[in-house]
Amino acid sequence: MQTIENGKVVAISLTVVDNANGQVLETRSEELPVLYLHGHDNLVSSLEERLVGLSEGEEFEFTVEDGYGPAATSEPQEVPKREFPKAWHLEPGFSFLASGANGKQVRLWVHGVKGSRVTVSGEHPWCGRTVTFSGKVLGMRSATLEERNHGHAHGPGGHHH
Ligand code: ZN
Repeated sequence: MQTIENGKVVAISLTVVDNANGQVLETRSEELPVLYLHGHDNLVSSLEERLVGLSEGEEFEFTVEDGYGPAATSEPQEVPKREFPKAWHLEPGFSFLASGANGKQVRLWVHGVKGSRVTVSGEHPWCGRTVTFSGKVLGMRSATLEERNHGHAHGPGGHHH
């Protein structure tokens, strides 16, 4: 039986709850699962590392302190919305790579959108929180060469381009 490991394209349903107040931070149903390429930082690492070894049909539930990293050390910054590609889903938790001051690629996360301004920072908007990840492994397959080269999964729930 296949199990989750590097190079597998995996479909999972997923619910993320903030343990402090029960707020549902993210939910993806079995009808619209998360499709990701394991081993390429497509998911937050605290979740991805706990999914290793699971097989299709298995349900999971993990409670993780600082599931999205330790509490923020920097203030989010505002960026005009027009500087982002129109196709991007600018919502809290969306991440992207940007060129830093020294030309190095840095990962930034969207914290929120207010009118024409987008707040972003180098830390996840849900950092510093204890969260519970739950869901089910819906399926998996080996990644295609193209997916491995791109570093993400293609198809419904994955990347379209
Ligand atoms: Zn691609």
